[in-house]
Amino acid sequence: MSIPVKPFDPQSLRTDFPILDVRVHGDRQLVYLDNAASTQRPRQVIQRIRDLYERQYANVHRGIHWLSEQSTDLYEVARETSARWINARHPQEVVFTSGTTASINLVARSWGDANLGPGDEILLTLLEHHSNIVPWQQLAARTGAKVRFVPIEDDGQLRLTELNALLTERTRVVSVTAASNVLGTHVPVADIISQAHAVGAVVLVDAAQSAPHQVTDVQASGVDFLAFSGHKMLGPSGIGVLYGREELLEEMPPFLGGGSMIRRVTTDGFEPGELPEKFEAGTPPIASAVGLTAAIEYLQQIGLGAIQEYERQLAVHAHDRLSALEGVCILGPEVDKKGAIICFLIDGIHPHDAAQALDQQGIAVRAGHHCAMPLHDRLGFPATLRASFYFYNTLEEVDLLVDAIVATQRVFRRSS
Ligand code: PLP
Repeated sequence: MSIPVKPFDPQSLRTDFPILDVRVHGDRQLVYLDNAASTQRPRQVIQRIRDLYERQYANVHRGIHWLSEQSTDLYEVARETSARWINARHPQEVVFTSGTTASINLVARSWGDANLGPGDEILLTLLEHHSNIVPWQQLAARTGAKVRFVPIEDDGQLRLTELNALLTERTRVVSVTAASNVLGTHVPVADIISQAHAVGAVVLVDAAQSAPHQVTDVQASGVDFLAFSGHKMLGPSGIGVLYGREELLEEMPPFLGGGSMIRRVTTDGFEPGELPEKFEAGTPPIASAVGLTAAIEYLQQIGLGAIQEYERQLAVHAHDRLSALEGVCILGPEVDKKGAIICFLIDGIHPHDAAQALDQQGIAVRAGHHCAMPLHDRLGFPATLRASFYFYNTLEEVDLLVDAIVATQRVFRRSS
């Protein structure tokens, strides 16, 4: 049963998110600006999961009883819904994992181990999250391949002029984020894909920060692999998608072994199952997949166009207000070259101290390296502050952030 969603209006959409009414630190209004780490869930998603557990849940693909068939149908609807969300050719090109990290590890282990050797190169960018660095470093250590990085300009945009020189016939895989989780930088993945394909490299796009905000079309972009996480787009934690072109997935050996991923097992060995089960060993994230269906349906009803337009207004307002503050420095590109993420520093206040002071005022932002240490090394700061927005945030919340920063500066000035 689906609950109708209201037309786009941030104030009324907020009423779908019970957690946004939670009071923090006694009786402070919560201003949740940590959406790049994880978004919140509307009641439609929570209700769908509840319905499953109350009326439809059993393990999938194994039973021939009624409940198992119900559950299996819902699990496969989640696959079809996810495939349509990214315009995959076939649902079997969607493998459910526990998240973006698991999806990238699957490719590095399965495709990477089978295809890379000494002297081969893996090309990443300095914008990457550790999830899109470490699995490739591990692959390089196993195979003797080398990891290289596309550098960035001072404003956090990729130095694309160097891409040509870095892409050679030795490059076997290019793995790149579509949007930086720190600076918000939009990356021209379509150009990168066509240039990488021209030298015969396979491309993985880390869509963790783009799939919740903009249209993803794997057929139009021609990408080979793409990964995203449910919890960053209103879905439950513990579910992620790995898209792979069918021809590539067919050739790849299974990564994890166990139940469900086999056709036959004997004491001598095993025969792997078909796609996509071959990559889904063990009991999959059934309830999380069903919740992901509800999350995607919710986003579809609002429309990504409306979301993007509104997030642009939030980002512009946040940029204008924060850049007008004395002692506040925004890092990253101009607002039209990035998503609704503002990365900033406050003069004389360590990001962790600032985040704690903002939290005391009800403002949830993130401080630290945001799982992007190589990027922070390049920026020259060990830690930064990050406010990241989603469509349920409001212009008033941006103003509350600004007021809280000013109050924090006042307190720190007094105590120094
Ligand atoms: N890639 C990017 C760009 C991210 O922002 C994140 C999470 O913040 C990840 C990968 C990892 O996602 P997950 O923790 O859901 O696996």
